[in-house]
Amino acid sequence: LAQLFRPLDMLGMVYRMIRQGLIDMEAMFRLIDTPPEIRDADDAGPLIVTGGAVTFENVVFGYEPDRTILNGVSFAVGAGETLAIVGPSGAGKSTIARLLFRFYDPQGGRVTIDGQDIKAVTQKSLRAEIGIVPQDTVLFNDSIGYNIAYGRADASAEEIAAAAEGAAIDGFIALLPQGYETEVGERGLKLSGGEKQRVAIARTLLKNPPILILDEATSALDSRTEAAIQATLDRIAERRTTLVIAHRLSTVVNADRIIVLEKGRVAETGTHEQLLAMRGLYADMWARQQAEKEEGTV
Ligand code: ADP
Ligand code: MG
Repeated sequence: LAQLFRPLDMLGMVYRMIRQGLIDMEAMFRLIDTPPEIRDADDAGPLIVTGGAVTFENVVFGYEPDRTILNGVSFAVGAGETLAIVGPSGAGKSTIARLLFRFYDPQGGRVTIDGQDIKAVTQKSLRAEIGIVPQDTVLFNDSIGYNIAYGRADASAEEIAAAAEGAAIDGFIALLPQGYETEVGERGLKLSGGEKQRVAIARTLLKNPPILILDEATSALDSRTEAAIQATLDRIAERRTTLVIAHRLSTVVNADRIIVLEKGRVAETGTHEQLLAMRGLYADMWARQQAEKEEGTV
């Protein structure tokens, strides 16, 4: 009987902790997302980043044993380069981001950063080197300054202000009645989608990681806000290894290389021009999106 009640106890405890604001949702998702089998190797040392080159080598992965999501995916991103990953919804694009962050281990092949298998290094050192700007940013019920500094509790007021400037949200904050102390989130000031993305970008700038993942970072925004945020993202991606996951192809035109993911494999690889010339999947997706744009539906 005790065994039956333990899970209920856990739920009750988690519920109370959320109500009291003791754990934030991001930490909570991390608990749920990270299966217990992801452990540091006994002899794991820190990841040593020299330039931030990333490779996926013949990676095979499925969340469930009988359903393979990635079926031998290989690509290489040179230090400081930008790789775009496109493909239909459900193709496994975000899964690639999760594997790089080591929320899961592949069942075959390996993922490396600067030649080191990410399974051989500590998770803490790995995650310290990677910044993610997700599709939807959830803010904590706290000040906007806290939300920017989240994950860098030691950040000074000057560093927070510099990050806000880099994310082009400093002007907005300056106009708030309590500046960086203004409460945001459910119980405070509601920010627009674009403003929330800028908070996420400022947070990433403060973390200053050599490797950056933008997972449909602008897809929830209207196209004018998207263009403004895109300019900021392009700037912060400049000196970093960047994986851009995108649904709207307009945001990947300038990537050093684009891979098209389909049915668990890399179906096409090339620059925007090369892929258009191939007249394959990418060219089709591009033509479709251009047509939608002219109809004014995007
Ligand atoms: P996308 O290319 O749209 O980012 P994802 O990488 O998120 O696709 O997902 C790829 C496939 O894996 C989808 O079919 C999705 O339903 C499945 N999937 C994603 N996360 C999980 C999970 N935690 N458990 C089981 N299946 C999952
Ligand atoms: Mg996705």
